[in-house]
Amino acid sequence: MLEKKVALVTGAGRGIGREIALTLAEKGAFVVVNYQGSRERAEEVVREIQEKGGNAAAYQCNVADFSQTERMVKELIASYQHIDILVNNAGITRDGLVMKMSEEDFDKVIATNLKGTFNTIRHLSRQMNKQKSGRIINISSVSGVLGNAGQANYAASKAGVIGLTKSMARELASRGITVNAIAPGFIDTDMTGVLSDSVKEAAVRQIPLGHFGKPKDVAETAAFLASDAAAYITGQVIHVDGGMAI
Ligand code: NAP
Repeated sequence: MLEKKVALVTGAGRGIGREIALTLAEKGAFVVVNYQGSRERAEEVVREIQEKGGNAAAYQCNVADFSQTERMVKELIASYQHIDILVNNAGITRDGLVMKMSEEDFDKVIATNLKGTFNTIRHLSRQMNKQKSGRIINISSVSGVLGNAGQANYAASKAGVIGLTKSMARELASRGITVNAIAPGFIDTDMTGVLSDSVKEAAVRQIPLGHFGKPKDVAETAAFLASDAAAYITGQVIHVDGGMAI
């Protein structure tokens, strides 16, 4: 289904990004497993893909850094000639009430989640324009849709990702490039693993389906958006949240 496609998945050494990398590879794509610090885990993802008969390579890059991201995109294009699927998954949280939030915690979250998404699109969209095709999938969050007390920096970054997604969908549509966002709710990963039991219980009460999602729930949605079946879908925010944002 994704044979001969090259996919770049940011933050793919663990969590949701890892599962997206494995799923795109299962469907036939060559996957570049980007990581920032989790080198061993990214290499494990590559090994797992290869053991299942797929193809992948790991690439270190801090997507919050404009010139590092430019270098990564240039090197990948030089190595693989085309990049067909970009999944902007890299993300961080620095939770706290705004009254007590440091400037650094605000800036860092925006730099990774929002500017990181801009950086990869900025450097890759020219290539996708030349290819006259491409799929860009940005991982937003239910927090960016509903807002969340204690996550103003994160919610602002993820709402920004939605604005960026819709604008890029309009900018790139004439070249056959689709740009969509996925807004996951609570998904079982390291990011939610740090939440206290009482916060998790309160979260579950807000989920109509009554439980956290799995990385696979998000990964299958990303694979669908990357597939030919989703060719006529652009500028959308797909909620994978057990009904939280109904
Ligand atoms: P996670 O387990 O904490 O993993 C975060 C990933 O982002 C890691 O692979 C990390 O790479 C990467 N990353 C962070 N900063 C980076 C940077 N500057 N450059 C490159 N990679 C970077 O998080 P997750 O739960 O899988 O979340 C993945 C995405 O889904 C995030 O955008 C998150 O906001 C979003 N999301 C998650 C949930 C949830 O409930 N889990 C809900 C809604 C949205 P290294 O380990 O190499 O540093």
